[in-house]
Amino acid sequence: MNWLGDHDQEWLPGLNEGANHRVLITTADRRVAVDENGAPLFVSLNSPLISDQEPYLAGTLNRLTYYGVRAPEMAELSYEPLRPVLIQLNSEDFIPVNAVMQVLDFFEEHRFCGRCGNQMSASKSDRGRYCEPCGFTQYPRISPCVIVLITRGDEILLARAPRFVDGMYSTLAGFVEAGESAEHACHREIGEEVGVRIKSPVYQGSQSWPFKHSLMLGYRAEWLSGDIVIDGIEIVDAQWFNINHLPKLPPHASISRGMIDAYIKERLS
Ligand SMILES: [Zn+2]
Repeated sequence: MNWLGDHDQEWLPGLNEGANHRVLITTADRRVAVDENGAPLFVSLNSPLISDQEPYLAGTLNRLTYYGVRAPEMAELSYEPLRPVLIQLNSEDFIPVNAVMQVLDFFEEHRFCGRCGNQMSASKSDRGRYCEPCGFTQYPRISPCVIVLITRGDEILLARAPRFVDGMYSTLAGFVEAGESAEHACHREIGEEVGVRIKSPVYQGSQSWPFKHSLMLGYRAEWLSGDIVIDGIEIVDAQWFNINHLPKLPPHASISRGMIDAYIKERLS
């Protein structure tokens, strides 16, 4: 799977049509019910397992409608944390599992109105949460985040954050601040995290990512000037790596890996 070329799936957020449906069961701590192979377990809307739960509609992929429930742990089911389940999936399953998790997070975190404190209910006309007393509608939160592959000929700049698995290096990423364009965010984040300057970033593609409600905007930028200087907190190591001698990279399901693989393919062709 390559996220840069993987936008041809027929994904329609929230559309509730067709007889075919699947329900993903999750827990309050964002674990996912899995089958005997560790893949997400999907049940039917009329499964006895979820008879006392309200399923939330997430979307329709290739005419199959997906719902999610967040239910107390059931002894008869096995569960796994979201991240390892998600990163092994192909896009047919990644898209709905990601969407279900974000919709459930949104409903859980918007039970009360942020403006007046009254209880909110599902909007009848769209995917929002509506507050009857004050008329305020809140929609699922999406946080744009830039992720940048910095290149210098046959070298790419990769960095390690403290939370990464041992030995893994990735492209640099950071949230877009209020009032900032995605391109401004690229320049600022790169400057803050590794101290180098880059030429104009060029958009590559995007990926929705449920940690927690990110929209990863992928950019590639050529190095302009400066040596690597890390802050030692957000980034614990950063290096230029030759594309023929790369460290452990992020999983294939990530846009970071998609951008790295696309660049290597270009350089080697
Ligand atoms: Zn209100």
